[in-house]
Order: sequence, then C-alpha cells, then structure tokens
Amino acid sequence: MRKKIVAGNWKMNTLPAEGVELAKGVAAGRGGVCECVDFIVCPPFTHLSTVAEALKGSGIALGAQNCAAEEKGAYTGEVSAAMIAALGCKYVILGHSERRQYYGETSETLNKKMAQAYANGLTPIYCVGENLDEREAGKHFDVVKAQIEEVVYNLTAEQFKNLVIAYEPVWAIGTGKTATAEQAQEIHAYIRKVLSAKFGAAADECAILYGGSCKPSNAAEIFAKADVDGGLIGGAALKAEDFLAIGKGFEK
Ligand code: PEP
Repeated sequence: MRKKIVAGNWKMNTLPAEGVELAKGVAAGRGGVCECVDFIVCPPFTHLSTVAEALKGSGIALGAQNCAAEEKGAYTGEVSAAMIAALGCKYVILGHSERRQYYGETSETLNKKMAQAYANGLTPIYCVGENLDEREAGKHFDVVKAQIEEVVYNLTAEQFKNLVIAYEPVWAIGTGKTATAEQAQEIHAYIRKVLSAKFGAAADECAILYGGSCKPSNAAEIFAKADVDGGLIGGAALKAEDFLAIGKGFEK
C-alpha cells in the first residue's frame, strides 16, 4: 500500500507568527481527516523551529523547501540539510520548478542536494515537470524522463525507498490551471514506468504527488486516479481549512 500524502509548500509566504497560527490551525483540524493521509507542511526556513513546536503531538510532519548542496562551511546564506534535520524536518523539497527557473538549479546541483538530504536522514520530495512550451510540443514525457534519469537514477535501492516524487506541470503552478485528472494519471503512470525500469517493483511503493493549482474542489477527482498518491500544494496550503479539505479528497 502506497502512502497517501498531502504536502504544503508555503513558499516565501507568512511572517513567523502567521506561520505558527497556520500550523496550529492545521494541527487543530487534522483529526477531522482520515488517518490514512500523511500531512506535511513546508514553511520558510525562518519558521521551522516555531512551527515544529506548534506541530508537536499532531502527527503532522515538517519539511523544508530546499537545502544546501554542500555539507557545511563558507557558503554565505545557505542552510544545510543537517541544520534543517536538527530542527525536526523529516522531508525536504528538492528541484521545485521555481528553484530550477529562478535559481539555476541543475541536475548536477540536485544530485549533491539529494546526497546531503540522505546523509541527514531526510526524505526528499523531488519535483519534476514540464513547462508550457514543452507540453505543447509534446515533449513532457521526455522532460520528466530526463529529470528522473539524471537524478533519481543515481540513488541506491535503499535511498529510493525513501523518496517522494512530485509531478508539477509548470504551466499549472500558481496559474489556476490544473492538469486534468486524466493528464495527471497518464504522466504519473509514465513516471512509475520510468522508475520501475531502474528500481523494479520498488517503483510500486513510491508515492507520486500531483502539484499545480490543486484545491478542495479538484483534489478528489485527481486523487482518485490509480497512480496519483496525493498532492504538493502551494496556494491552497496557506489556509488551514483548504489544506485539510484537500486531504479529505481521499475520502470521496
Ligand atoms: C507548488 O508550487 O508546489 C504548487 C503546487 O503551487 P500551487 O498549488 O499554488 O499551484
């Protein structure tokens, strides 16, 4: 049985006190959603320790949105995987399209970040996805295949067991445009096939999340698809009520 996961990517939103309130709201409502769903919240680095405190005893996991490619040392402004792990993070989002696009993250950097994540006991949520031009040119399968082959194929079988993939079509992120449930299923099944070519049956255990304008009104239809194991949620993760309602998408 694959895990069902709803992860919130808060991006560069909320001031520290607002983040704590949001986390408390999610924790308070968590009991109203099936225990079969694993919730993860990924606040900005600055709120990790206070949000960790607010989540204590809730069963909701903490994640970071990024980590450094290097272990430690003279890397001004960077935050290491060991630092976020020490604050209670269990997950780290890596390869988000905004980081690939605005901060020049390449497969080379991501291989190093993945290594740091595993060395510190973190589970990466590795993001893949095509942009609009690539989708319109019918290249989306090739794009995600390359993003997986260049990074995920370098993992050991043991590391692969602790990996979450998020498929996020860039044209659907923050745009209000959602991939149809059929489009999501088609590419999720393809991603699983690419994973199984390297990792065999273990690919059946890997959670593959959908991300891109997922909200309470469309989550149930998308999550009903066989190869969609949950969502990576941006905008709708900023309201506890909406975030929790997305988790209820598994109950319909
Ligand atoms: C994201 O950036 O991870 C995301 C899915 O954003 P949104 O839900 O706002 O489209």
